[in-house]
Amino acid sequence: MTLSVKDILSQKPIGTTIELKGWVRTFRSNRFIAISDGSTIKTVQAVIDFENVAEETLKKISTGAAIQVKGDLLSSLGKGQDVEIQVTEITVLGESNPEEYPLQPKKHSLEFLREIAHLRMRTNTFGAIMRVRHSLAFAVHHYFNSKQFFYLHTPIITGSDAEGAGEMFNVSILDKKNPPLKDDGSIDYSKDFFEKETNLTVSGQLEAELGAMALSKVYTFGPTFRAENSNTSRHLAEFWMIEPEVAFADLNDNMDLAEDFLKYVIRYTLEHCADDLEFLEKRLLDEEKSKPEKDRSPQALREKLQFVADNNFRRVSYTEAIDILRNSKPNKKKKFKYLIEEWGADLQSEHEKFLVQHFNAPVILFDYPATIKAFYMRLNEDEKTVRAMDILFPGIGEIVGGSQREERHDVLLGKMNDFDIDQKELQWYLDTRKFGTCVHSGFGLGFERLVLFATGMGNIRDVIPFPRTPGNAEF
Ligand code: ATP
Ligand code: MN
Repeated sequence: MTLSVKDILSQKPIGTTIELKGWVRTFRSNRFIAISDGSTIKTVQAVIDFENVAEETLKKISTGAAIQVKGDLLSSLGKGQDVEIQVTEITVLGESNPEEYPLQPKKHSLEFLREIAHLRMRTNTFGAIMRVRHSLAFAVHHYFNSKQFFYLHTPIITGSDAEGAGEMFNVSILDKKNPPLKDDGSIDYSKDFFEKETNLTVSGQLEAELGAMALSKVYTFGPTFRAENSNTSRHLAEFWMIEPEVAFADLNDNMDLAEDFLKYVIRYTLEHCADDLEFLEKRLLDEEKSKPEKDRSPQALREKLQFVADNNFRRVSYTEAIDILRNSKPNKKKKFKYLIEEWGADLQSEHEKFLVQHFNAPVILFDYPATIKAFYMRLNEDEKTVRAMDILFPGIGEIVGGSQREERHDVLLGKMNDFDIDQKELQWYLDTRKFGTCVHSGFGLGFERLVLFATGMGNIRDVIPFPRTPGNAEF
């Protein structure tokens, strides 16, 4: 019977003969092999009788090697494990040269591991992160499916540059050395593959809205791309975004949905990734020991997740938030890099983090000035603010950005003119406001920001298998 490490440790079929394939984590005293197969953070101990194993096989058993063992599962007398495999047959499937293998059984820095991202998933830390990431993704689909949302696949290549969420990556097959030119000297994209200029999408929202206008409740969950040169610990050039879009829902419904959804996926992960979260929590505590006391997080990882799952998010209007920020200590003492002077200011990550600390809870900010938000957001009766919402999380800042959408054709058209957006380009988007328009809302959640929060990691490069950032597209 071939079992995974997870099966063996959960079923504990003591007394039966089992087979296990995995990689050697450690090999001690020519006798004890800790085998990992990634199914769980734990390893299974295999005990060999070295006198009965051929000399050349024994030599090949080293950290990183792929092996197959067969033997009886027994209860273990040793410390640290309940069961162990008494090996009767061992095969080295793939050797690993111990002199060259970069992952030694010791602590490696996250920076070093980023350079060997092709191997880093074999470490406890990255194995745990990838399993938590999977679990969160699974919970996302589970949540929406249970609420009668349909998973909509929106295009990755987009022909519109009106999404307005950031700088885009161009998609072209034109000859770079000698592109066809128009009379005015600019590149003639009508000669390109799609016969127009195309880019990688920065958001699936506009197409998701089209879906919501037919299926009522949809969500996207796909890769998005931003060519911003922002080398921060919270930005990737390629990241995954979850974007629900709901017909007949206003901004309050949107906030309710986002809060319920975030609590659900966090709770799901607490329930299903107990071992990995326990490990990540210890890792974080260790890491924080080297930080000054004031920079340490007051709650342990699982406590922080439980707190978010159990408590109401604070809903605060932009206007109220500006008042709080203007009168705050760091503003008065000029500690903020960007001082808040008047209503209308865009909030920076330092302000978001201050607000989360001030309320000691996740914060939903709503009703932002129209001038600092996208054209498609629903204009309020005051004609100064729009029905936007951002959700701010402890240690992360903005995790969600969303809004009620402008459903009135004439108002939307006016906004597009103000923002200098070509009507012809978004004719299909405007059409939904002509044929059965209705109140509708949605939001975008950056998946990696969620994984950052759930794992307690500090850098977004460490919560995606192969990060894409300025100057880095390795692997
Ligand atoms: P920020 O102000 O943090 O750069 P944004 O306001 O540009 O974000 P939105 O356009 O509102 O972001 O996108 C929705 C969500 O996508 C954000 O709330 C965030 O969680 C995530 N997100 C945006 N840009 C990035 C990025 N470059 N890398 C990872 N996640 C991102
Ligand atoms: Mn935003």
